[in-house]
Amino acid sequence: MKKIGFYSLLLSCVFLFSCQEDEGLVAVSQNSNDSALESIVILKSGVEVEKRGENYFFGGDMILSPEQLRSLDETGAIAGDVTGDLERDLSLNPVTNLPINVDNLLQTRNLGIYPTSYNLWAMVRFVYDGNLTSTQKGYIKQALLELQSKTNLRFYNATGEPTKDPVYGFDYPYVNFKSIGDSDVSTSYVGRIGGKQDISLADFAFRDASYGDYGVIIHEICHAVGMLHEQSRPDRDDYVNIDWNNLTSSGKKQFDKQTTNYHYRGNYDYNSVMGYGSKTTSLSIVIDKSKPMYTKKDGSLIYQGSTVSNLDRMWINYLYLPYVARSDVYRELDAIVYDGDNRILTEQERLQLQAQLNNGNPNPPAGGRIPNEF
Ligand SMILES: [Zn+2]
Repeated sequence: MKKIGFYSLLLSCVFLFSCQEDEGLVAVSQNSNDSALESIVILKSGVEVEKRGENYFFGGDMILSPEQLRSLDETGAIAGDVTGDLERDLSLNPVTNLPINVDNLLQTRNLGIYPTSYNLWAMVRFVYDGNLTSTQKGYIKQALLELQSKTNLRFYNATGEPTKDPVYGFDYPYVNFKSIGDSDVSTSYVGRIGGKQDISLADFAFRDASYGDYGVIIHEICHAVGMLHEQSRPDRDDYVNIDWNNLTSSGKKQFDKQTTNYHYRGNYDYNSVMGYGSKTTSLSIVIDKSKPMYTKKDGSLIYQGSTVSNLDRMWINYLYLPYVARSDVYRELDAIVYDGDNRILTEQERLQLQAQLNNGNPNPPAGGRIPNEF
């Protein structure tokens, strides 16, 4: 997510390159300023991505993993074709996010929006990077608790724990929250990509949080659990007008449509934490920051949500289950379980589901829970 608040002017210039080869990719334009080198890169598939420093970006703040970039280059989709229906994956160990049937560990699995091994619907394993202050950790904790209270997402604090499975040697997929200081963009990966992945939070994310607005932190976490930008919906032109003349080349990238391999719930949601506000002060996105980059169809402004909306919650609740951290493989559900329409399951329904998840056994073995403090 790009910074919405005060933003210092950066001198920028745009110049053209002719067919500059870069790992087989062609760079066609380059923006530079005093903090980062940016360029638009056209992939073999015709899809354009942004390169900033060593990373390739999708939609402004989503870093592409090497596997996602390769797929986008070769197929035009972030990860090949999804053949099956989207559904919760119930075969994962909730805490390690590895398949419980270890014989299948090496198989390619289609777990959700993309057919990779690591787009997972179990607990989100995370660590606090050593560079965070205790105040910053406190803000992240509040964002995590907010998501836990409103959705089926559950987080497992693995700070200081091994990052590899001690028996099988596989890297655990986990999110590393870190501070990146004064920057106009906070970043995340889309879905879980395997092993360590950063959620990089700029100062403005923490400044907003100090005023009680955890929207930026929640937005970046929602990318890591698989969500894309609301304004990328394929049907968005029925709901918003975009002022293309007020967008920089980088800004235009924020409005690419996602037309394959993605799942939306409900109508366009102006309140989504994943949708941008109409106005930004980031001159890497807009040319005239006094004007909106897009509006509702009636011309009124859109304000970015500061927490998950009801439709955001439906997306998450449809795909995730709220597991309790345990040392064994029993899949214990937390006290409150939402269905895909944000309805809380009755206790009878919850126990029924828990039994289904555990070969008919509704009763968690005693003593299996492990501490999970944030
Ligand atoms: Zn974003």
